[in-house]
Amino acid sequence: MSHDPNCIFCKIIEGKIPSRKVYEDDDIFAFHDINPWAPVHFLMIPKKHITSLAHVDATNAELLGRMMVLAPKLALQEGCRPYPEGGFRIVSNTGAEGGQEVHHMHWHVMGGPRPWLRG
Ligand code: AMP
Ligand code: ZN
Repeated sequence: MSHDPNCIFCKIIEGKIPSRKVYEDDDIFAFHDINPWAPVHFLMIPKKHITSLAHVDATNAELLGRMMVLAPKLALQEGCRPYPEGGFRIVSNTGAEGGQEVHHMHWHVMGGPRPWLRG
């Protein structure tokens, strides 16, 4: 399924639910988390509806590679200080025991000065 009409993140990509956009291209969307844990906290998602990181396969390798190359650039753009003093954390909650609440694969990118609310 490339789009799930009941998915909150698919609705954000479509603009049906508002978000504070960080980045967009043909395949990738990034936006600020509505409930940030850290001074910098945004989410990166594929525009294609992929349910979780447990659902990816070799056909998604290029997309995932592009997301991973983009993540550090967006982290700096959004205010994370450079490595090694600064840095960031990437988390992808997967499945119930992984703490996943929204079932459209997403990567939390978090950074900024400590302490953080969580994590
Ligand atoms: P999880 O599935 O546990 O990784 O959590 C989903 C994340 O999505 C949480 O950090 C929420 O704060 C975030 N979230 C849920 N709805 C929205 C929204 N409408 N805009 C931005 N972030 C959201
Ligand atoms: Zn979706």
